[in-house]
Amino acid sequence: MTLSVPGPAESLLRERCELEILGEILPPERYREVIAGADALLPQLRDRIDEAALDAAGPGLRVVSNYAVGLDNVDIPGCTQRGIYVGHTPDVLTDATADLAMTLLLSAARRVVESDREMRDGRYDGWRPDYLLGQEVTGATLGIIGFGRIGKAVARRAAGGFAMRILAYDPVGVVREGDLDVEACSLDRLLIESDFVSCHVPLTEETHHLIGEAELASMRRSAILVNTSRGPIIDEAALVNALRSGVIAGAGLDVYEREPEMAAGLADCITAVLLPHLGSATGKTRAAMGELAARNILNVLDGKAPLACANPEVAPRR
Ligand code: NAD
Repeated sequence: MTLSVPGPAESLLRERCELEILGEILPPERYREVIAGADALLPQLRDRIDEAALDAAGPGLRVVSNYAVGLDNVDIPGCTQRGIYVGHTPDVLTDATADLAMTLLLSAARRVVESDREMRDGRYDGWRPDYLLGQEVTGATLGIIGFGRIGKAVARRAAGGFAMRILAYDPVGVVREGDLDVEACSLDRLLIESDFVSCHVPLTEETHHLIGEAELASMRRSAILVNTSRGPIIDEAALVNALRSGVIAGAGLDVYEREPEMAAGLADCITAVLLPHLGSATGKTRAAMGELAARNILNVLDGKAPLACANPEVAPRR
């Protein structure tokens, strides 16, 4: 286990395994040394589980149980080829991440960061009709890119709580849930018609720089872009240019292209709300993620597939 996690994960694992907690994110060479001979790994999204790491772990490795839903740090085909299960933590973090996407949307729309600074800097000198006017959220159009678990949860909040019109783009298809009113459309149309755009895609070769200069230019000048998925899906340098030159009105970001760094100039963009990758950061959710990640490992030790498995085609080993 790379880092200690809240909740029951550690005690669950200690009952059945010899648990080693590394306590820090190690440089890849050092990580490869310490994982040699492991039966199971419980990495964080900053650990790269690539071919070199899998080779270093050796033939005894049976499961990589990622402490995240996103698996862009794990070489899934490499694991499958070696008969190693890949587990992850879907569903348990959906609500917390959707809540944070709404937090970013609302904060950027209502200029919360700028306004907070006004108060702290002592610049507020009394109510005025034209002071710090933001964007109306209720009834506005929200475009959701990636209509999976988190995308749908954001749509439910936005439609149910804020009477927003929902457009969604997902190449796998946009499946309507219950009475949620959502209109499937192309990415081009979504970008043109939305007042707010929220990104919920996994990071893959196809989604790298899904939003670049051309996509930003097609958005409304009043639009706000929210990203709680993975940083590299947005060309961050192009976003800084777009924010600086007023191509779009604002952004709400939880993730960055080269975390923990930000693109040059982003910190000076006052219309951007910037959070340090907090999508799943509630005590309840982080504990639930830990429990699921631990149970994924225990299942494999019992000769079964992980509860939440990214490569169920792997044959169980006893
Ligand atoms: P999911 O698999 O349920 O949904 C992802 C959706 O994106 C799927 O419906 C998929 O078809 C769609 N998609 C794939 N490629 C696409 C493309 N090119 N264009 C549009 N849609 C595309 O995953 P989820 O549980 O909703 O999580 C989504 C992502 O959110 C994760 O992969 C992870 O990277 C990120 N995440 C971030 C945080 C955070 O802390 N900020 C927390 C949780 C998840």
